Amino acid sequence: MKKKALETSFIADSMLGKLTKWLRLAGVDVEYDKYIEDDILIKRAQSENRVILTRDRSIVKRKGVGVHLLIWSDHLAEQLLEFIQVYEIDTLENAFTRCIRCNTVLAEVKKDSLSGQIPPYVLKTQDEFRLCNRCGRIYWAGTHRENAEGFLRKVIGNLKD
Ligand SMILES: [Zn+2]
Repeated sequence: MKKKALETSFIADSMLGKLTKWLRLAGVDVEYDKYIEDDILIKRAQSENRVILTRDRSIVKRKGVGVHLLIWSDHLAEQLLEFIQVYEIDTLENAFTRCIRCNTVLAEVKKDSLSGQIPPYVLKTQDEFRLCNRCGRIYWAGTHRENAEGFLRKVIGNLKD
């Protein structure tokens, strides 16, 4: 049986920034730091019980590397496919609940508290907003999100809903 991506924590190496963003969009917990050194990455994976996602075969051979998934492709859609062959994503229920910039779980936020922080036409046309309490980014639905969901559905395929 496949492992569940949404019940697992990951840390990605610097070459997997795009994959990280898309996994976060799907709701998967992926830590990422573009400038992290290999040693720190490996230590953090150990101490936070995270699976290492890497494109770097030399990392995999290092001492102390625990559970990891080596990603071969350089292309996002193929990377996602490699990922979901091992770690299943069977629902988009948790999609758009995590900050794509910093991996924090978003908080729902009242529309009234946001005036002045987002464009007026967005305030007028949208009702649901989520806020990242760590980096301050505000999220709402819209065409970006529809496109993103379409892409995820296409790539991930066998979703329950
Ligand atoms: Zn954030």
